Order: sequence, then C-alpha cells, then structure tokens
Amino acid sequence: MAKEKILKGIAVSEGIAQGTVFIYETNSIQVFQTPILSVYLEDETARFEKAVERTKKELMDIKELINKEIGGDFAQFLDAQIMMLEDRTIIETVKKRIIEEKKNAEYIYHQVINDYASKLGESKDQYLSERVADIWDVGMRVLRNLLGLTHSSVVDVPPGTIIAAHDIPPSEAALIDPNNVLGIVTEGGGRTSHTAITARALEIPAVLGVEGLMGKIKNSETVLIDGDRGILIKNPSRGRIHFYEVAKKKERELEEALSPYCELPPKTHDGKYIDISANIEFFAEFAHAKKYGAVGIGLFRTEFLYLTRRGNPSEEEQFRVYNALAQRMKPHPVIIRTFDLGGDKIVSHYHEANPFLGWRAIRVCLDNWDFLKIQLRAILRASANRNVKIMYPMISTYEEIKRVNLIFDKVKKELKSKKIEFDEDIQVGIMIETPSAALLSSHLTSQVDFFSIGSNELTQYTLAVDRGNERVSKLFDHFHPAVLNLIKRVIDAGHDAHIWVGLCGELAADPLAIPLLLGFGIDELSMNPASIPRAKLVLRSITIPECEKIAHDALGYRTALEVKRFLRRAIRKTFPGVEQVIK
Ligand code: PEP
Ligand code: MG
Repeated sequence: MAKEKILKGIAVSEGIAQGTVFIYETNSIQVFQTPILSVYLEDETARFEKAVERTKKELMDIKELINKEIGGDFAQFLDAQIMMLEDRTIIETVKKRIIEEKKNAEYIYHQVINDYASKLGESKDQYLSERVADIWDVGMRVLRNLLGLTHSSVVDVPPGTIIAAHDIPPSEAALIDPNNVLGIVTEGGGRTSHTAITARALEIPAVLGVEGLMGKIKNSETVLIDGDRGILIKNPSRGRIHFYEVAKKKERELEEALSPYCELPPKTHDGKYIDISANIEFFAEFAHAKKYGAVGIGLFRTEFLYLTRRGNPSEEEQFRVYNALAQRMKPHPVIIRTFDLGGDKIVSHYHEANPFLGWRAIRVCLDNWDFLKIQLRAILRASANRNVKIMYPMISTYEEIKRVNLIFDKVKKELKSKKIEFDEDIQVGIMIETPSAALLSSHLTSQVDFFSIGSNELTQYTLAVDRGNERVSKLFDHFHPAVLNLIKRVIDAGHDAHIWVGLCGELAADPLAIPLLLGFGIDELSMNPASIPRAKLVLRSITIPECEKIAHDALGYRTALEVKRFLRRAIRKTFPGVEQVIK
C-alpha cells in the first residue's frame, strides 16, 4: 500500500471529508489555425455568433441557478461576464478578422481574447486588471462551444467526490452541488477567494493554497481532507481513516444533540439574556443564521461584496443587499460593518510590505470619502427598516471616529435634504481590535453607541503575531492574559458609559471563553452561524455569579496555558453540563 502523505494548505471551510478525487482542469484547450475558403467565411462568422449565443445561454442558466441556490448578490459577477461576452468591439473585431485573414473562428477569437486579457492585465486600474480571470472564464466557454468540447465540469461529478483543481473559476464554483461534492482542495486561492466563500456558503470542507497540488494528486485516488486543520491526506492509513471516522461520528452525534438548541432562547441558567448573533459574509447566509437560531447579525462583513465581484459595488447594488438582509432578519438587528479591505482581505492589485499594519479598513475609507459615502448612503437607506446598525472596523485613534462621524452626519443631512427615509436613531459602533482602541476605550465611548470587540485582530496586534505565519502562529492565543485584560477593560469602559459591548471574534464561540466573557459582563456574542447551538448549550448551563467568580480568578494567571488549564478545571467543576462540548 502506498505511503500516507500529508499536504498542508489553508483551512478555509471547516469539516472533515473522505472521498474520491476528481481533477477539474480549465486551461487544457488547444487551438489550431485553419484556413477558410472565401465561400465559407460567412458560415464561419455565423458559427462564431452561435457559440457566443450558446455561451450566453449557459451563463444565464448559471445565474438563475445561483440566484435560486445561493442568492442574488453572489450572481453579480455573471452580469459582468455576460457584458464581456457581448462586448461589441470584441465581437466585431473577431468577425472582421475572420473575413480579412480567412482563418477559423477559434484561432482568431483566441488571439483577440489573449490580446485583450494582456492589455487588461497590464492596466494600473485595479478594476480592469481584476477582470482578466473573468475574460478567460468567458473566453474558454466560447472556445469550448466553438470546438464542440464537453468541458471538464463540476456539475456531473458522482456522489462522494473531492474536487481538486489549480483554481476553480467563479462561474464553475457556483455550480458545485453539495450533495455530490464532499470537499474541495486547490493549489491557488486563500481565505477570501471566491472558492473559499462558496465552500463556506455551501458548508463544504475546503483546503486551499496547497503548494504543488496538481503535481501530487491523481484522478480517482482516495483522499481525506481536514478543513479544520487545513490538511489533505493522500493514501490515508487505516489508523488515520479510523481516527477521522470516529471524529466524524462524534461530530454527527454532537450535531444531533445540539440541534434542539437552535430553537431555544439564548439565556443563562439563571435567566440572563445574551444576544447570540451571527457573523456572515454575504446575503444568502442569513438562512444559516436563522437555521442555527441567531437573534440577529452581529457582523456583516461587507468587504465580500467587493471581493466577490469586479470593481466597486454601486450604492444601488449595496442598498439592495443591505435592505434585503434587514428585511429577512426583522425584527432582529443587523450590524453592517463598513468595508474592511486590506490585511488578509487583499485587493489583488494592491500590495504593501506590512498589510496588517498598512492601508486597510477605516484608513482606506477615510482616504476615499466618496467610496465611504456611497456605502454610508446605502446603509442609511436600508436603516429605514429600523433594525440596522453601523459599525466601523480597525479604529485605532480618537480622531478617526470623530472624522468618520463627521462624514456620517454629512451623509445624513444630504439624505434628509432629499427627503430620503432613514432611521435617525441608528446606532453607530466601532470594532475594538487594536490595543490602542482598547486602551483608549473610555474616551471612545462618547462617540459611539456600542463596541464590538474583534478578538482575532486584538490578539494579533496585542501579541504582535501574524497568525497566517506558520512559524509564529503557535504564539497566537486569545486566552493570553494581556488580551483578556484588554477585553475586560473595554467591557468596563463601555458599561461605565452605559453603552453595550459585544464580541465578534472566534473567541465568542469558544466554550471555554463563554463563561469567562459572561463573567466580564459581555452583552452580545457574535459568531459563525454553525457554532450557535453549541454556544446556547453553554449559555443555558451557566449562572452569572459563578461566571463572575471564574472570570475574576482567571485574571490572576500569567500565561495563556495557565488560564486555559484553570478554565477547563473550573468550568468542568462548576458547570458539568458544558463538559460535552469542551475539547
Ligand atoms: C476580528 O478581528 O476579530 C473580527 C471579527 O474581524 P475579521 O475577522 O472580519 O477581521
Ligand atoms: Mg478584524
């Protein structure tokens, strides 16, 4: 039996899957040059037009399917692709050159697309340069139709498939059927790529960014993927398969045991109500939030609206998404966070030496007033539903929040003068995810209605650890006493000023952290929707005075390890009901 081999990648969508590899290949089309006799030139241009028509029908069908299965905002890139397909300049150039050069349509079309894509790729304009992948996605479809090729597609894969690819183009990723596809693994891509977002939306385990994958994997071989750890296991040993089978069985049993909690109210055993809301990345996930029993959206990461399409989303496009989300979630609140671009949510055209310390989030928006104002207008218009709140990411200075509030007031005045309806009492909050904001929190309270602690980033910046960097990621620990002290300080500052404080980093879903955070006095916890039933189980097993005692004692330790050991012991002893979900 072949030796087991572990390939490392980036964990982008959680879960475990074992299945048979289907290699999805995109760029395997060969185009040859063939002379065309003058009498057949008209037929040749007609053949080209037919291929364009057929491609349009394919794209329209995909759009309809996505609209139905995932949601309209996800299908927008297809409008852009249809526009490229129907670009008159391209079509006329191809037809003209077929006639003039007396050559076959696929050869000419390939050349025209190639020139077009190269020009776009060289463009300094980010919007244009990002369209290269779309041009090729569309171009390959037309070529396949011209050549009569039934292309490698993810559509007809059999049940039990793990898709392996260099990259999956957006129009193809959107066609993945979660009934047949158990997992996804790719050589390219990262946490914010289109494939990653699709995998999370469909709840399919996925590992992306596996170096050299395509040279190391074969069609029809059996592999295991672990979307929690970000690994792919080739030729898994019997022991490994058994380990994962047991883990999966446990996961299923726990899921079943937890499912009644979706319906139950988020209250502690002694009756304190805590908002348990969902973090989502695009509109259609509201269905997950509801399914798992969220009482609102605590974080809508709007940057994905930007990352899943090409170019800036217009006010109207944004409004449609925010408004639909607010309506679907009523009467529960929806917290819309302004674009958090930069850092790990990289805009492909823009690179800098230290992206996490660079031009990102609120800094980008404050340097681009028009860009920010469009988003503020769209959010304010959606606030007419009376359940929308707005939140700014990555605040690190008092001046930033003053400036952004000034712009916000301006936008409100403009809307008022145009008699456009919005919620005049809309709550405005900030994320506390830099140590400077945490340390300054008692001053920042005067400018906002709430705080939401971004514990992922707060940990990263407090401990000076890039958790994407394998060499130092073991130092990343949100139970580090320095992080916990900052969290406690922020909650106290908020409460002293009578504003509410939530937490929307990964810590919010950690069963060891929930009693601790409640002991600190947290008012809201926002998390990945699938974690909500487990969080409710923890919540309903605990009581506030005991949590306060645990939280007080936890702050006496010097290291993250000591804190975790203490929490494990104290929680097991005080709240035995939590035992089953503690790892
Ligand atoms: C965080 O930093 O904790 C957070 C929730 O923001 P994001 O994960 O979107 O960066
Ligand atoms: Mg963050």
